[in-house]
Amino acid sequence: MTEPTIFELSSPGRKGVTFPKSDVPETKVPQNLARTILPMPEVSEIDVIRHFTRLSQLNYCIDTGFYPLGSCTMKYNPKINEVAARLPGIANVHPLQPEVTVQGNLALMYELQQWLLEISGFAGITMQPAAGAHGEYVGILIIRAYHLSRGDKQRTKMLIPDSAHGTNPASSSMSGFDVVKVATDENGNVDLDSLRSVCDDKVAGLMLTNPNTLGLFEQQVQEVAQIVHEAGGLVYGDGANLNALLGIVRPGDLGIDVMHFNLHKTFSTPHGGGGPGSGPVGVVEKLIDFLPFPVVEMLEPATAELPPYFGLVKPLHSIGRIKSFNGHFGMMVRAYTYINMYGGNGLRRIGENAVLNANYLMSLVKDTYKLAYDRSCMHEFVVEGHWADAPDIHALDIAKRLMDYNFHPPTNYFPLIVPEALMIEPTETESKQSLDDFANALLQIAKEAKENPQLLKDAPHNTPIGRLDEVKAAKDLVLCCWIPENYQ
Ligand SMILES: *Cc1c(COP(=O)(O)O)cnc(C)c1O
Repeated sequence: MTEPTIFELSSPGRKGVTFPKSDVPETKVPQNLARTILPMPEVSEIDVIRHFTRLSQLNYCIDTGFYPLGSCTMKYNPKINEVAARLPGIANVHPLQPEVTVQGNLALMYELQQWLLEISGFAGITMQPAAGAHGEYVGILIIRAYHLSRGDKQRTKMLIPDSAHGTNPASSSMSGFDVVKVATDENGNVDLDSLRSVCDDKVAGLMLTNPNTLGLFEQQVQEVAQIVHEAGGLVYGDGANLNALLGIVRPGDLGIDVMHFNLHKTFSTPHGGGGPGSGPVGVVEKLIDFLPFPVVEMLEPATAELPPYFGLVKPLHSIGRIKSFNGHFGMMVRAYTYINMYGGNGLRRIGENAVLNANYLMSLVKDTYKLAYDRSCMHEFVVEGHWADAPDIHALDIAKRLMDYNFHPPTNYFPLIVPEALMIEPTETESKQSLDDFANALLQIAKEAKENPQLLKDAPHNTPIGRLDEVKAAKDLVLCCWIPENYQ
């Protein structure tokens, strides 16, 4: 059997490096250490550079184009964040180093904790969770620990509005709660009657996203919180959409008891592609003792001679450790840099411009794409991607066709309560020009849908590969074409 060609660029004898002549005697590799030699491509340095550069250019990313992926806040990640994260004292630090040798790093974490508390209006915070969904899980465990600590053992229900992100019911049921759905009213708010009808002494809490995933501010948020509190439950805030409130509203002032932040959304640390995120969780005073450990605290304040001393502590009734070491420190450095660069007023302008951009874009397309709820929006809005006079066209076809115009598709088929949903979040980092270009593409596609629907059905046409069977691509992933028979 001839070996299949696994490296198309390989050419026998071609090399990328030349080793200097050996100046030590040759020895045989001991049998127990010898492994099958893996086939390696024979290529020159420029072959390698071109190969990987070309591959990197097949990726669509925020650095190459507009990325209006609703609920994901794909804002530009300022490069200064990366400079900070690569400073040797930050990039090369080891999590097992003695506390006294990492005081600067702990100070950074501490200061970031203080800033997040100031931004959100909470009393305590953990930086541990690895991402938003992990933060939800931690927050729900804190709610559970709180009720159990009071001997309130019958609270088994977690209330979740039907517009919620899928991670909300997932985190709740992973924590052992029964998920109970709450309806949305005709204005896109939590339906108060529906909420009242499920509130009783079995309610552990409600998971609320504000602005909700329809991009709308919950107009009765304080009433919602009051109803849940009167039933003895706590209110969890899904803070993934904090971008819209930044510097304007503090969730802690709205009746939220525990909330996760998404540093990788609101605070511009990169995300997507399975890279690390960071989902700190803020809590009100009465939940501080349940936070996971370790938490960074200032153990000794600064004196005239000495800087403050920071340490890692375990809260009194901690739910335990939920992440190795101290969480994703590199993400914290990036968020710290971002907040430091903008300052309080800058953060407020981020929130204002995120909302302005979304409303501007919405106004350009709303006569062509039906709005799910015709209200001014917050940082994002949801339209229906279908028309009566183009019956074969679905949101998916519009999303795919946008790729031909070199735009990343919006989130689609979410939230679940909007048929053929297209959820569009421009973020504050886009210019009027790019919003206009995107709106024009959407309007053009609406026209194509009626005049030449097949063009949308076959899209994308200009991408490296055409339309995928997405289920098969996810379930039947082939990453390696050939493994040598004697590979161990
Ligand atoms: C992104 C998001 C989450 C989950 O955050 P991850 O970091 O992706 O786990 C939860 N809720 C909402 C509304 C989100 O947009």
